[in-house]
Amino acid sequence: MNAPFKLRPYQQEAVDATLKHFRKSADSAVIVLPTGAGKSLVIAELARLARRKILVVTHVKELVEQNHAKYQSYGVQGGIFSAGLKRKDNQHQVTFASVQSVAANLEQFKDEYSLIIIDECHRVSGEEDSQYQRIIEQLRQHNTGLKVLGLTATPYRLGMGWIYRYHYRGFVRSEEDKPFVHCIYELPLIYMISRGYLTKPDLVDATVAQYDFSALAQNRFGEYAEKDVNELLGKHQRVTRAIIEQVMELAVERQAVMIFAATVDHAKEITGYLPHEQTALITGATDQGERDTLIQRFKQRQLKYLVNVSVLTTGFDAPHVDFIAILRPTQSVSLYQQIVGRGLRLDEGKKDCLVIDYTGNNVNLYHPEVGEKKPNSDSEPVQVLCPGCGFANIFWGKTDAAGQVIEHYGRRCHGLLGWDEENETAAHEQRPEQCDYRFRFKECPHCGSENDIAARNCQQCKKAIIDPDDQLRDALKLKDAMVIRCAGITLNANDRNNTSKLKITYHAEDGEELCESFDFSKPAQRKVFNKLFGRRLANGQAPQEFSRLDEVLAMQAVLPAPDFVIARKKKHYWQVQERIFDYQGSYRKAYEA
Ligand SMILES: [Zn+2]
Ligand SMILES: [Zn+2]
Repeated sequence: MNAPFKLRPYQQEAVDATLKHFRKSADSAVIVLPTGAGKSLVIAELARLARRKILVVTHVKELVEQNHAKYQSYGVQGGIFSAGLKRKDNQHQVTFASVQSVAANLEQFKDEYSLIIIDECHRVSGEEDSQYQRIIEQLRQHNTGLKVLGLTATPYRLGMGWIYRYHYRGFVRSEEDKPFVHCIYELPLIYMISRGYLTKPDLVDATVAQYDFSALAQNRFGEYAEKDVNELLGKHQRVTRAIIEQVMELAVERQAVMIFAATVDHAKEITGYLPHEQTALITGATDQGERDTLIQRFKQRQLKYLVNVSVLTTGFDAPHVDFIAILRPTQSVSLYQQIVGRGLRLDEGKKDCLVIDYTGNNVNLYHPEVGEKKPNSDSEPVQVLCPGCGFANIFWGKTDAAGQVIEHYGRRCHGLLGWDEENETAAHEQRPEQCDYRFRFKECPHCGSENDIAARNCQQCKKAIIDPDDQLRDALKLKDAMVIRCAGITLNANDRNNTSKLKITYHAEDGEELCESFDFSKPAQRKVFNKLFGRRLANGQAPQEFSRLDEVLAMQAVLPAPDFVIARKKKHYWQVQERIFDYQGSYRKAYEA
């Protein structure tokens, strides 16, 4: 049995990475390939190579069918187990199944499976009672050595974050457990486009009109409430109308248009402005039969416009789509890539795909996913080298006109220690250790070790670390304590006779001041200063050990200022007791609204 298709080089690499990984490890693994990279061929090849029973599951019947067809094109027979496709056959060596149907018939899966492949595996949650986990559990009962492989284009989900923990290029995505342990292969979208495997997107700014969702409140994952979005859009019907008029104008030269709406109400409004006989609307409420018919008619080019509300982001495949209009907010690069990906499949005569974002999302299609909520609208992904291990981290941050990083929001380095790049070994031998370098940190008052700014207990000595909010609240209650919101610091040589004494003045926004001195001729005081200020230089990107006062004065413009300073009254002066850096609690910082 020969492969009827020659795998593309990267598909072969993905297959090789899988074999290599499972030879060494029983940990679950993920392969990340952009939409349109031909995941079904990778699955077919893995299924072809397997000697024992394997199960390929996914959440939509279209993908079950697609994966099965690719496998059968090798000239072999595979089974389909899917109520939606009216077939329940798991007697072949390879079974293609829908997750719902397997979960509903677990008792029928009592054979020994060596591998389960989950397509669109970003849908797997870590929860034990989810359908996916119940299936894995069932198969494990009959083979404790079951291997679990996931494939996805978007290994990141708003609300859950990264779906895996360790990346084969030597970094971690999360300090906590995730549904999958390792990412063993990944290909960026730009690779696919620049090599001509995908259509080039023609990214155009919306000129006619734009929504502005920025005033709406976001939840902690960066999502908006549907009610808020509807209310905002309800006030901007003229904008929607103008946008759709432009879409129709530009669509004259296009074959097929997909429009992504923000809510169901919004989608209905949009549909109302489009030519009735050429338009279909698909929402989560559209029944399966009608949905199939509409998609069929769209693929046969009887319909030109397909309006949808986040239901056609995965498993939908109409290669002739050459215009994507985005009218919904998207905070994640992954989701944005999924949407744009609908228009990037190659098709005969298709030169590019027009992509217009009418929402000012400002998502860069080629940017990596940072994995944290964007802290503010002018942040962008920046690369920050770890002073500890040299790993190139990607964090949210800001750059100057020359592209230099002037600020970043990273907390801890994501690099893995003892990483052997050639063999990618560390990750496979055992759970590798994450670099402990922290860009922002809270020092433990008991043992002096550095902890995350949100830590409640010291990672080293396990003792409780006082919460800055408690510190502030307690100090504010005391008559002999003074708390200032620090708006900046100034440095001076303290004393003409003593050239090594540094005076720091902390300025409050209202003009109040607190001062303290560090004598650089005394090693203990030098050490405290360096721990407080030198270590935090350039947000921890470029820490420095100062040994002389003049070195400090030369760098004064870039020394960090704390957010709060707490002092206690000593007979005739205020003695600084705490300087709180990188504060994230509920008290207002200087100049914040
Ligand atoms: Zn590091
Ligand atoms: Zn400690």
